[in-house]
Amino acid sequence: MNKKKRNLSSPNSNVEDRLNARAVSRGFAIGKVVCLHGRKRQFYRIEISHAQIELELQRFRAAVNLATGQLKKIAAQKNGQITKTKIDIFSAHLLILEDKSLHSKIETIIEGKKVNAEWAVKIVTEEFVAQYKTIPDAHLRERYIDLEDVADRILTALGGSGNAPIALEKNSIIVAEEVRPSTLIELIESQPQAIITENGGWTSHTFILAREMNLPAVTGVKKILRQVENGDQVIVDGFSGQVILNPRPDTVKRYKNAADEFYESKNVEVEKTKVELNTLDNREIIIRANIDLPGGYAQAKKSGAKGVGLYRSEFLFNQYKGFPNEREQIEAYRKIAELVGAEGVRIRTFDLGIEQLADETAKREKNPALGLRAIRLGFSHLKEFRLQLRSLLQASTVGNLHVVLPMVSDVSEIIQTKMILKRERESLLKKKIECGNLRLGAMIEVPSAIFTIDEIVAEVDFLCLGTNDLVQYLLAVDRDNETVADWFRTLHPAVLRAVKIVMQAAEKKGISVIVCGEMAGSPAYVPILLGLGATEISMNVNSIARVRKVISQIALEEARELVKNLENCRTADEVENTATIFYREKWTHLFPNNVFPSKKKYKI
Ligand code: PEP
Ligand code: MG
Repeated sequence: MNKKKRNLSSPNSNVEDRLNARAVSRGFAIGKVVCLHGRKRQFYRIEISHAQIELELQRFRAAVNLATGQLKKIAAQKNGQITKTKIDIFSAHLLILEDKSLHSKIETIIEGKKVNAEWAVKIVTEEFVAQYKTIPDAHLRERYIDLEDVADRILTALGGSGNAPIALEKNSIIVAEEVRPSTLIELIESQPQAIITENGGWTSHTFILAREMNLPAVTGVKKILRQVENGDQVIVDGFSGQVILNPRPDTVKRYKNAADEFYESKNVEVEKTKVELNTLDNREIIIRANIDLPGGYAQAKKSGAKGVGLYRSEFLFNQYKGFPNEREQIEAYRKIAELVGAEGVRIRTFDLGIEQLADETAKREKNPALGLRAIRLGFSHLKEFRLQLRSLLQASTVGNLHVVLPMVSDVSEIIQTKMILKRERESLLKKKIECGNLRLGAMIEVPSAIFTIDEIVAEVDFLCLGTNDLVQYLLAVDRDNETVADWFRTLHPAVLRAVKIVMQAAEKKGISVIVCGEMAGSPAYVPILLGLGATEISMNVNSIARVRKVISQIALEEARELVKNLENCRTADEVENTATIFYREKWTHLFPNNVFPSKKKYKI
C-alpha cells in the first residue's frame, strides 16, 4: 500500500492529528473510518465470516451474469442509435467480462481473504491495471481503461443483483473523495455516524441528505483517503469543521459530552414548537418541509411544518434502482399525500441527469449541470415523463398534490407539459380511471427563467424558487465543486435582485412562491428572504426549529429595512458586511457570532 499515514501512533498516545475542513452538516461524531471507493458505484471493504463466503461468491456470480446480459443486449443492437465503434467496445468488454481467469482470481480473494465481492474486484482490477500500465505498446497499454469500465460494471451490478451488500459496522464514519446521494441512501440502514469528504459543497445533494438525516459532515479535506485507513478512530466536528485523527482519550471524552448536550438540546427545541408562526409584527410566515427520504414527513410535522414544499421524487429512483413503475409511483405519491393532508405536497418531476440513468448509449457528459438534466431529460425520455405525470394524475385523487417542473428555462416547457398532462388525463378518463386536480408549478432556478418570469407566471399556479441552482447558474459556480466553493455566494447582489424580480412578478399575478433551496433553511439568510418578499419557505426538516426561532423574534418591517440597506451593495462582501452590521445592532441575541461563512482571502 502506498498510503501515507500522517500519524501512526496508537489511540492512547498523546499525538493526535487535526485536519481543517468545511463543516456542511452540524453535529459531533466519534467513530471508526470506513473508506469508500469507486466511481459509478461506491463500495468499501468488509470482512466476512467463513459462513458468508458461499453467499458472497453467489452474489459475485449473479452480478457477472447480470452485467454479461446487459452487454450482450447492447452488443446485439442494430437500430442505428448506437454506432459500430461503440458496439466494438462493448464486445471487447464482453470478452473481458467472460474471462474465466478474472473470475477465478476474484473468487480466490473472496475466499482466501474473507472479504466482500466489491473489495475483491477492486484488488484484482488494480493488479491488472498496474500490469497493463507497464506495457510498452501504447495501444495495448490503454486497454486498462476498458478493464476499469468492466470493473465498474460489475460493481454496479453487485448493487443491483438483488442481494443486498453486507451492512457497515456500527459507529462507522464514511471517508471518501465524494459520496454519491444514492450511496448514502443505501447506507441509511447501517446508520453511519458522519461523513468526511474531499469534494462537495453546502448545496450538494449528499450534504442536503446528510442534514436531513442528522448526520454530521465535513468536506474539503485534501487527499483524505491517503491519510486514513479502515478502522482508524476519528472525531468529526460538524460545527468547526475539524477532523481529529487518532484522538487522545481526553479529547474523546470532551467530544462525547458535547455530543450528548447537542442532541439533548435539539430534542427540547422540537417538542416546544406549534404550527402557527408569526413575526413580531404579526405577519404570518409559512414553513414547509423539503422531503427526500421516505418517512421524512413525520419528523417535519412535529417540528411545525405545514405540508411539503418540495418532494424530490428522483430519490425514488435510488430507492427502486431505476424508474419506478406506474403502480409504485402511484403508491409512493398517495402515501405522502395522505400523510400530509390538506396542506399539500409539491412533487417535483424527476430532476435527474442522463448519467444517473446509467444509460449505456449516452455519451458521458462533459458538464452534467449544463447537460441533459431535469425537465430536459423528461422531454428526451418522454415515455418515463408521461408515466410520471400519469401516476401523479391518478395519485391526486386522494390528496392535495401539486406538480413542479425542475430547471424550467422558459414558458414553452410549461406549455408542452400542460399538453402532455391534458392528453394523459383524456386517455385515463377514456379508460374510466379517475384523475384528481393537479396544480402546476415551475422551479425558478436558471437565469433565463428570471428574465422571462412574466411569461412563466402567466402559465403556472405557483412557483418554487430553487436558490441552490439559482446561485450556481447565475454565478456560474458548480455547486458540487469544493475548489470553487468560495465563489458560491448566496448573498451576491445578482441573487438578491433575481429573488426580488421573482417575488414581484408572482405578487402581481397573485400566485405563491415557495423558496425551497438551502438558503431558506439558513437562519442567517431567512431575514433577507423575508425582506425581499418571501412568505413561504420550505426547508430541510432539521433546520425548521432554528429558522422558526429567528422568524418569531424579528419584525417584518425590520427585515424590509435590512433589505433596503442592501440594495446599493455592489458585491457579496458588501452585502455580508452591511447585513452583519445590521444583525449586530438589531439582533445580537439571535446572531451573537460570525453570521456568514468565512471566505478565503487571496493575496494580490
Ligand atoms: C434548488 O436548486 O435550490 C433546489 C431546491 O433543488 P435541488 O437542490 O434539488 O437542485
Ligand atoms: Mg435545483
